[in-house]
Amino acid sequence: MADKKTYETEIAIIGSGGAGIAAGIEACDAGASVIVFEKAADLGGAAAISGGGCCIVGSPIQKAAGIEDNPDLAFNDWVKWGGPSTDVVWARYYIEHSLHDLYHWAENFGVKWVDMKPQEGNSVMRWTRPERNGLGLMTHLTQAFRDKGGEIVANTEIKEIKTSNGRAVGFLGVNSETGEEVEVSCKTVIVTTGGFNSNIDMVLEARPELKGHKVMEGSGHGSTGSGHKMVTDVGGYLTHMENVWFYVYSTPDYRDPDQKRGLVCRHIPGYIWVNQQGKRFHNESLSGGNSASPAMLAQDPPHAWAIVDTPMKANLEIADPYYRNGDEIIRENVEELLANSPFVKSAETLEQLAKEIEVDPATFLGEIERYNDACEKGLDNEPEFGKPLGMSKPFDTPPYYALQFVPTARKNFGGIKTDIKCRVLNKHFEPIEGLYAAGEACGMAGGHINGSAGLEGTMLGPSVFSGRVAGGWAANETGHGEGFVGKPNRP
Ligand SMILES: Cc1cc2nc3c(=O)[nH]c(=O)nc-3n(C[C@H](O)[C@H](O)[C@H](O)COP(=O)(O)OP(=O)(O)OC[C@H]3O[C@@H](n4cnc5c(N)ncnc54)[C@H](O)[C@@H]3O)c2cc1C
Repeated sequence: MADKKTYETEIAIIGSGGAGIAAGIEACDAGASVIVFEKAADLGGAAAISGGGCCIVGSPIQKAAGIEDNPDLAFNDWVKWGGPSTDVVWARYYIEHSLHDLYHWAENFGVKWVDMKPQEGNSVMRWTRPERNGLGLMTHLTQAFRDKGGEIVANTEIKEIKTSNGRAVGFLGVNSETGEEVEVSCKTVIVTTGGFNSNIDMVLEARPELKGHKVMEGSGHGSTGSGHKMVTDVGGYLTHMENVWFYVYSTPDYRDPDQKRGLVCRHIPGYIWVNQQGKRFHNESLSGGNSASPAMLAQDPPHAWAIVDTPMKANLEIADPYYRNGDEIIRENVEELLANSPFVKSAETLEQLAKEIEVDPATFLGEIERYNDACEKGLDNEPEFGKPLGMSKPFDTPPYYALQFVPTARKNFGGIKTDIKCRVLNKHFEPIEGLYAAGEACGMAGGHINGSAGLEGTMLGPSVFSGRVAGGWAANETGHGEGFVGKPNRP
């Protein structure tokens, strides 16, 4: 029988992603002893495979690009986009602190912020990318945590939070390599286990109307909602679980043995999408979770075919570690997918492609003809849905491809409810002593910081920031430091 391995520390953190490592850094800075437990062999969770973009307000990069931004403008965009379910207190808190307490804070550890990208819903550009995307960010933060004396125990899945007289006092887990039981005793527990979008049962429980349709898992492999379960088992409250952020420019991962995962496909601006009736239904340049996702979910069935000709596929990028290492695209693997996936069809003629994807050829060819005609006339926008044509060209170079696009659950905008100190709340909205949570496990921060839609960069950014907040206050509860003390963006 396997032995039991025991650990004792002041602060024990579950999950080594953006929130967990940020919490660890903050707690170490306050003087606490900290151990992070990670179920995977690789560290970093979804944060390390992410695009790395963070919503930063009033940054030097914005200023260099001549962009005037301020927290009021960002807050208005945020609430308009996220709708009435936005947690305005957490949104305001994050926005007011994003410059010093995320951008400059990360720079202290060697993170370089390199560029920005426009994102739907933002009146100015704020999505700010670190060098080497999320991998670059997490490499520097993880090193900083270790340099400050933080310990990381990988291959260890935590299963249950221990309580004594209603207070969290540690947890139990198992070493996935040896089968050895693990018991951790601590003064405060921080849950940073990420979202639940790699657990399709939980996604469909939150969104029962999608049962029976092809809906894929699309977060990091570790985002299975285990923290949600552990926290509710000790009385924690979940909120806004239905706010699942779907991406629909995503094709099933044919290499996944379980056939559950989706792959997000980027950088094919020239493409069009047709539904199973062979008709376009949307301005494909608006591909975000608040525009394209509702449009595709309204189709019958809710999937589409992305139509591409040979030059258009040149920049196709797939946001998954098999196809992308940091910001470096592994082109041969992208070509391998195009050649081998049963969810990608190709043909030498568009008529043949229509047959391959089983849509009505006359309807499909009519769509292509109208689109090509708009391109050839040099129109700024195609007339039907208003898609800007600046980055488009006629479909004229075989082979032609059709990628099946299906809704993929990417990010969770609901989760564990916490207060502004990241203390986990029970159903009476009272804190559970010794128990903190942050990051995507909490819908990115607090429970529902984004509301039902995110401006982008509003997942990783708030996850890291709320991790810091949790680490500061958890350390304070153990007798170290003054709690999280940040520096607002403006006086
Ligand atoms: C491909 C991709 C691209 C993205 N790009 C962006 C972007 O550009 N901008 C943006 O804002 N957001 C982006 N996101 C979302 C963002 O990455 C996440 O919201 C963020 O990483 C959440 O951080 P976290 O620390 O809460 O969770 P994670 O980073 O997912 O970390 C959670 C960790 O906990 C571990 N864990 C889970 N359960 C247990 C357990 N029981 N025991 C031990 N360990 C456990 C997991 O293995 C994982 O390592 C992207 C997501 C994906 C998947």
